[in-house]
Amino acid sequence: MRKIPTKKGLSTLQRIEKIELTTNFPIGPVNSYVVFGEKLTLIDAGLKNKQGWDDLNNGLHRLGVEITDLEQIVLTHHHNDHTGLVDWILEKNPTIKIFAHKDTEMILKDESYIEWSAEFFHNLFIEFGLTEDMAIKSAFRKGHRDYFQTASVDEVLEEGDMVPGLPSFQVIETLGHSQDHISFYSADEQLFICGDHIIKGVHGGMWMDAPKPGNTRAKPLIQYLKNLEKCRKLSANFTFSGHGPIISDLDEAIDGHISNIEHRVSRVINTLKKANGAATGFEIIQDMYRGRYEKAVITFLFEIISVLDLLEERNIVISEKQNGVFKYRLVNN
Ligand SMILES: [Zn+2]
Repeated sequence: MRKIPTKKGLSTLQRIEKIELTTNFPIGPVNSYVVFGEKLTLIDAGLKNKQGWDDLNNGLHRLGVEITDLEQIVLTHHHNDHTGLVDWILEKNPTIKIFAHKDTEMILKDESYIEWSAEFFHNLFIEFGLTEDMAIKSAFRKGHRDYFQTASVDEVLEEGDMVPGLPSFQVIETLGHSQDHISFYSADEQLFICGDHIIKGVHGGMWMDAPKPGNTRAKPLIQYLKNLEKCRKLSANFTFSGHGPIISDLDEAIDGHISNIEHRVSRVINTLKKANGAATGFEIIQDMYRGRYEKAVITFLFEIISVLDLLEERNIVISEKQNGVFKYRLVNN
């Protein structure tokens, strides 16, 4: 086996290198990180596309390693810009180990969950005021998968676990952006790998996942805010995000996310005021994102559902179901 270059003259015990992989998403490239730990580790694995694959191979090559040298992949969450290339990596490196949250594999591959998920979103979208036609189309798109099919998770990671092969990195559950989102913190080295939980200057979005059959759905923005506060307690010199630059001031980035959310919250309140104090989720979206909501209905829907959950939690709005559709009403209007 070839000798893999290790940290040299670096103050940290484990060297972390960023590789940017091309996506066709508005957010731009996605970051993978190569960690030269006890095991040569790849954190997240890009979107499934030729350019991203070339970026990964070239990036590794620049660091003096190849796909076949990687010993493990650690996933922050299931989204296709973070797990898209896993199947291709596995083809070249069949013995590589994959670590992820306990629900990642279910969300990506469990046929009965995926089927239930389409039904769940169809009902959810109807409750928020979408037409039957739009609800069916949107629910179907949410269920589409064309990646992470030959791959499977070898070992699940839970809150508090130490990450195998990465001494001192502990798992921190950071649900909100997705229902299987985890981050990795090293108190010893003051390093934080946080996926899409915190991204400098950009809102990573709330992407809802269906609950397990028979369970009630999560309220992602409420979870997300709680988990932002959880991360505020960490002391990190460098925070490695799923997109954008490496963050040196974690608190500032967290504050940025919170003010972003509060801005959106007040926009929803103002939209409700304009609608005489009451509207459905879809009516709010049509007003707030006039002329552009059609292109990304699901994205906006998830954002607004999350905000409405928060407004209900704060007792600013109450919801009532009329003919199967939720109407949100401002309490003091
Ligand atoms: Zn992402």
